[in-house]
Amino acid sequence: MREVEEEGNPLIIAKGEGSDLIDIHGKRYLDGVSSIWVNIHGHRHPKIVQAIIRQIRTLAHSTLLGLTHLPAIQLAEKLIELAPPGLTKVFYSDNGSTAVEVAVKMAYAFWQQRDRPRKKKFISFAHAYHGDTLGSVSLGGIDLFHHLYHPLLFETLKVPAPTCYHCPLSLQYPSCKMACAMEVEKVMAEHTEEIAGLVIEPLVQAAAGMFTAPVGYLKEMRRLCDQYGILMIADEVATGFGRTGKMFACEHEQVTPDLMAIAKGMTGGYLPLAATLTTQEIYDVFLGEYAQFKTFFHGHSYTGNPLGCAAAIANIKIFEEEQVLTKLAPKIGFLKEALRPLRRWTHVGDIRQIGFMAGIELVMNKKEKMAYPLEWRMGKQVCDEARKRGVLLRPLGNVLALVPPLSISMKDLKRLISVVKESIQSMVLPRG
Ligand code: PMP
Repeated sequence: MREVEEEGNPLIIAKGEGSDLIDIHGKRYLDGVSSIWVNIHGHRHPKIVQAIIRQIRTLAHSTLLGLTHLPAIQLAEKLIELAPPGLTKVFYSDNGSTAVEVAVKMAYAFWQQRDRPRKKKFISFAHAYHGDTLGSVSLGGIDLFHHLYHPLLFETLKVPAPTCYHCPLSLQYPSCKMACAMEVEKVMAEHTEEIAGLVIEPLVQAAAGMFTAPVGYLKEMRRLCDQYGILMIADEVATGFGRTGKMFACEHEQVTPDLMAIAKGMTGGYLPLAATLTTQEIYDVFLGEYAQFKTFFHGHSYTGNPLGCAAAIANIKIFEEEQVLTKLAPKIGFLKEALRPLRRWTHVGDIRQIGFMAGIELVMNKKEKMAYPLEWRMGKQVCDEARKRGVLLRPLGNVLALVPPLSISMKDLKRLISVVKESIQSMVLPRG
C-alpha cells in the first residue's frame, strides 16, 4: 500500500466501451484481463444494458429467502439447459468465493445427512485459488495469499497439481503418464472413509499462473471420485461462460461434477451474481419433515439479485444470438499462433493457454527455470509498461495473464499481443 501511495496518480476509470476502458482524462486502455476475467461481450453491450434498465424499472431487489422472482426462475432454467447434463438444481449467491463455500457446505451436509459422519474432509490442490473468504482460503494453496491465515482455516488433504512446467514430481509429460493423478488416488485410497469431496479448478488453475492441466486429467479426477465415493466440486468461477472456448471447462472432457460453482462471467461481467449448481441426488438430502431441520441454511441479502439475473439472461442470449463461441474459435487459434514465437525468447519460460485464458511465464534463467525474485516485481513492471502503451494487464507473480473479452476484435487482439511483446522486451531484455 505504501508503494501505491507513493506512486500516486491512480488510474481512475470513468467509462467502458467494447474492449476498452477509458480513464477520467479520456485515455483509452484495452482491457486485456476482462476486468479480472469477468467481462465477456465487452463493456456497455446494449443488450445487457437494456436488460438491466428494463429490470430496474420493474423490480430492483426482492429476497430469495422464502420467495422467488421471475428473473431467478428464468435464469435457473437457462443455466440448467447450458450446464453439463445432470446438474438440475441452482442455488444462487453473489460472488465466486461464496459459490465455492456453498458447494463445500452442501457436500459436507450431504454426507452428514446421509449418516456418513466421518466424511468431513476435502481434497484440494497445491496452488489452488477459490476465493478470499476463509472457507475458500482453506481450500487454497497460494502461500503468498494464504499462509498468514493458516490458524483460522480448516484442514484439507492437499494434493499436487498438474503444473507440468514445474512438475511437482520432477517428471515430463507425457512420459509421466500423469503420475500426479496417481498421487491423488493414493490420498483417496488412504482416506476414503473421511473424504467428502474434491475441489478442482477444471482445466486451468488461473490465479496460480494459468496452469493448464493435460488432456484427460479432469476426466481421470471424475473417474477417481466415482471409484472412491467422493463428491466432485468444479470451481468454474474463472473458466465458465466461454472463457476456455466452451461454455464450461468441464465440457471439454464430458465431465459432470456433483457440484459446480459459477460467478464472474455469469452476468457478462456487469453485476455481482453467482450460483452453485448441483444434482437431484444432493438436493434430495435437504428434504425432510419440518422438525428435522434438514434445509440448507445459507442465504445472503443479495442472493440472486433480479438485476444480476436479468443481466445474466441477456448475457446467455448474446452467446446464442451472436454465435459467440463459434466466432471465438479462430481468435483462440490466432492467439496461440501469435504467442508461439515467444517460446524461443530467453526470458520466456513457458506459455500456457486454453481458450482465452493465457499465461506467459517470465524466468530469470530459462535453463534452470529459475524465477525472478518476487521483490523485482518483474510481472508488475511489464504490466506497467503495457499500461503506458494503453493496455491493461495483470501479473500473477512472474506470469502475465492474458484474458481478453471474448468479443475482442482481431485488430485489438493483434494490438494486445504486440503490446505484450514490446512490454516484455522493454523490461526483460536489458537485464540480460
Ligand atoms: N474461484 C476461482 C477459480 C477464481 O478465479 C475466483 C476469483 N478470481 C474465485 C473463485 C473467487 O471469486 P470472487 O472474486 O467472485 O469471490
